[in-house]
Formats: sequence, C-alpha cells, structure tokens
Amino acid sequence: MDFMELKYHQFNKQFFLNRLPRNVDIRLRRMTSRYGTIHIYGEKGSVCNYDGSKPFAKIYISAVETTIQHLSTMKHEMVHLYLYIRGKNFGHTEHFWKLCKAIGVLPLPGYALCEGVYGSEAINKRREEVNSQMADNKAPAVEKKVPGTKLLVEALKVGGTIEALAEKCGISINTVKVQMSFHLKKKGYIIAKTEKDGKVSFQITGQNAPVKPVKA
Ligand SMILES: [Zn+2]
Repeated sequence: MDFMELKYHQFNKQFFLNRLPRNVDIRLRRMTSRYGTIHIYGEKGSVCNYDGSKPFAKIYISAVETTIQHLSTMKHEMVHLYLYIRGKNFGHTEHFWKLCKAIGVLPLPGYALCEGVYGSEAINKRREEVNSQMADNKAPAVEKKVPGTKLLVEALKVGGTIEALAEKCGISINTVKVQMSFHLKKKGYIIAKTEKDGKVSFQITGQNAPVKPVKA
C-alpha cells in the first residue's frame, strides 16, 4: 500500500466512519489545469451492490503540488465520493464546502478547480453513446443477393458445363461459379463434378441439411 492509499484509509476511518468504499484507486498524475478529479464507477447511493471487479472510483491528484496539497485534494475528492454514495448532490454545493471545511480541507486558492466529477450515470451515458455509435458503424451485413439461384438449381438437376448453365439461366459464368461454390453449398446442395471428353460438367446429386450460419 502506498502512502496516498494509506492516508485514504486513515481519512476514511477518521472522517467518514469507514463508509467510503475501500477499493478506490488513487493516482498522482501530471495535471496542470486542476488539482484533482474523481471518476466514480459504482452506483450512486450505494457501496454494497458493487461487484468489486473494478475500483469503485479513481481519484486523480495533480502531481505538481506538495504533499500537503495532495492530501487536501484527496480529502476534497473524498467528500465528493461521500455525497455520491449517500445519494446526494455530489457537486460543489454549499453543503459540500461545509463538509470540506469540517474535515480540514485547506482553503488554498484553486481548490475549487476540481473539474469533472464523473458519476456512474455520466460514465454509463457516455459508454452507451459509444456503444450505439459502434453498432451504427457495424450494421449487420446484408447478405449479398446473387441472382438466379432457383433457375440454376433447376438447370443443375439436368446438369451441364458452366458455360451451358450460364446461358440457360441467363446469368454470368462468374455468378454460376459463386453460386455453386458458395450459395448452393450453403443451402446444402451436393454438386457433382464430372469430366467427359475434356468438358467439365456439374450436376446436383443430392441435398444435405442447409449449413446454419454460425453466430459470432
Ligand atoms: Zn471538487
């Protein structure tokens, strides 16, 4: 346990009756526009029904300040967290500042500059937005319609060369190839290939159960 974590648990006991979640990530990081911030992932109004697989919250503290300021900033963020788990308005309200004063958050200039307190609602909303954007981009692929399936099946019952089949069905040789190697195969048709006098002919000789598409 590092120093900041140790102090977190100490403050939790000393000021918050150990009501704050234990699994909170505390990180010092280079921030120049603010002293600290907190991202809360657990549900508002509760600590209990959180599965604990991820930290309940992450507290970021500007690394460029002094230790005393680090600790004061952490207390400030802990007040946000406290109000959050109590289901209260966890922003910079009058009540918030009263609590800060009560637990000795130093009134240093700039401490109001903790921007961005992200509760789970905001985070979840953002996550939903991202997911729906991804879903839009990944619209289910429409199976490419290849013409002449029925005609080709009928023609293949009699059989013939690719050229003859194509002509009979009025579709291109390429389409006949795609149909036989992919679409008809998927539908379960068994197509036999015979060679006679240098001419390759194809004929349907049976049908298996259609191959079911595999769901990803
Ligand atoms: Zn704040």
